[in-house]
Amino acid sequence: MAIYDQMMGATGVGGHVILLCKTCEAPAQDAKTASTVLKVCSKCGTPLGEWKTEAERNAELRDFAERVKREGVPVMKSFRIRVTSGEQAGRYVGRNIGGGLITNSELLKNREVKVPGTGHSLYAREDGATQFFEGKTDGVQAELRKLGYETELVEIPPKK
Ligand SMILES: [Zn+2]
Repeated sequence: MAIYDQMMGATGVGGHVILLCKTCEAPAQDAKTASTVLKVCSKCGTPLGEWKTEAERNAELRDFAERVKREGVPVMKSFRIRVTSGEQAGRYVGRNIGGGLITNSELLKNREVKVPGTGHSLYAREDGATQFFEGKTDGVQAELRKLGYETELVEIPPKK
């Protein structure tokens, strides 16, 4: 059982470490299933951590908080993935979203290209790109390589 990547720590008032959802920056709250205890995001409900017992949870969260205090808030690098080979070179990997009818010719030209058999599309513009956290890119790159797309990582500068 573990703390998931979606959880982040921040130092609050008086150096007290608070636990937040990485996406919403909303505080973690307790939840329970029949067999586990969880921390979930109080806004989006995404599980942030899951354990067999409260004791296990408390121990792991105590270590997590200590590490945040010691090292400061961990900065997760994030990346866009850009295709470097073939006809689609220069396009970014994004989500496969259902396409509506596009009539504007400029948009049509820039329209995403679906990668068959995957959940990915390739976008000409970087704002169509998915942001991948460090460690989450390997699988996507491997999946695309199998289909003949070589890719590179483009680091996204941290938000200030
Ligand atoms: Zn959330």
